[in-house]
Amino acid sequence: MDEETLDPEDWATLAELSHRIIDDAIAYLREVDERPAWQEMPDDVRDFFAEPLPVSGMGADGVYDAVIRNVMRYPMGNVHPRFWAWYMGAGNYTGALGDFLAAVQGSNLGGGNHAAAYLELQVIDWCRQMTGMPEDSSGLLVSGGSMANFTALAVARNVHAGVDVRELGVAAIPRPLRFYASNQVHSCHRKALEALGHGNSALRQVSADSELRMDIEELTDAIREDRAAGFQPACIIASAGTVNTGAIDDLEALADLAAAEGLWLHVDGCIGALLAIAPRNRWRVAGIERAHSIALDPHKWLHAPFDVGCVLVRDARAHRETFAVTPEYLEKTPRGIASANWLHEMGLQTSRGFRALKVWMALKEHGVEKFGRLIDQNIDQAAYLGELVAREGCLETVAPATINILCFRYRRDGMDDATMKSVNTEIMLRLQEEGTAVLSDTTVRGVHCLRVAINNHRTRRSDLKLLVEEVVGLGDSLSERYPRYG
Ligand SMILES: *Cc1c(COP(=O)(O)O)cnc(C)c1O
Repeated sequence: MDEETLDPEDWATLAELSHRIIDDAIAYLREVDERPAWQEMPDDVRDFFAEPLPVSGMGADGVYDAVIRNVMRYPMGNVHPRFWAWYMGAGNYTGALGDFLAAVQGSNLGGGNHAAAYLELQVIDWCRQMTGMPEDSSGLLVSGGSMANFTALAVARNVHAGVDVRELGVAAIPRPLRFYASNQVHSCHRKALEALGHGNSALRQVSADSELRMDIEELTDAIREDRAAGFQPACIIASAGTVNTGAIDDLEALADLAAAEGLWLHVDGCIGALLAIAPRNRWRVAGIERAHSIALDPHKWLHAPFDVGCVLVRDARAHRETFAVTPEYLEKTPRGIASANWLHEMGLQTSRGFRALKVWMALKEHGVEKFGRLIDQNIDQAAYLGELVAREGCLETVAPATINILCFRYRRDGMDDATMKSVNTEIMLRLQEEGTAVLSDTTVRGVHCLRVAINNHRTRRSDLKLLVEEVVGLGDSLSERYPRYG
């Protein structure tokens, strides 16, 4: 009987296809701004995704052609210079090569004694150096900020539960735990506390001040009140950069309060932790190094291709004790592959991808200083956009940019809120459908607005100028639909 393999019969043919893929990939990025930022898929492309399970193969050439036609043409758009929706990095080519090489090597980062595992530990240590956490901190690369926050909150919970919660479960916790965050906190914290078994009610949301930072007086009162009512305050979740507006909580003051109250200070730095490497903006996150744990996102301001997040934990032992289980089939050996620490003991996943290489290669290629300058550049660009918006009578700033996020809207005198919301929503959708730019929307202090988050190393000021011209043009023509404003 003939034995089979997934390797090609003819390596030379596969090499030819691979070279073509690389050439196409380089052209794809080189010419990214000549394509729409986003485009709707035609019906035949949608139908393509309903094709049934392939029973026999079509060969690699055919597969690649189908990917080019149906997939590569219809991206989300975040590698485009005018993509500013939600909060994403713009990727980078060297990082993509890193993902490719990681997959070729194929190592499983559950851990062990091999180069990939050491390289991941090095990247975690670089993240630690970037944020100034102490040398004996621990960490882990995870899928993104959501998992980084979850991992940190699990450690905080176990440390403050007051019982062996791993053995006994949350029902044995004597007094219900409380976690505190501003009402601007990312939704992943709610999900984390739900999954950890405490429920959303364990997350006490504190008001935000006029700059949308956590109100520390109200927080202090909330902690006292909860103690008096029989709750166990456990953890303050500081936002270093909120999704809505980029607001950064007062980290020094929160570190002081956490110390005085004996609480865990977790910093959700998915947006802002990396400000610590930006020469002109690092002052904004002063005190971050005092956290018990930090979540940060290399797939945002380090522009690593998705996905990669990083959790850092000051107390390495508490981190390990939250997750480590050593089954008989994963015991350490004195020599060989199993002679190093297992990375799976630091989180939920057992098999893990080689996410570190794409981060490592881009950092080595450019150096951390360049990434820091790019962060400063995005912040300057958001301020520039703020100036352009201020110059237009029909545009109104809803939340000014403190870092790289600006919220604004199109308005006309006398236009009511509901009309403004539909006009602005329509502007946002037309910008997408025309392929000009991708923005998202949000509501800040009850005001619906367009939101521009410039987390993009390809954005130029000319892109922002074009955005403002297009928004004004679309807004003017749309308001003609409403006779009172035409
Ligand atoms: C993006 C983000 C998250 C979630 O991170 P993912 O990488 O999307 O999982 C959490 N908190 C903040 C502040 C974020 O910006």
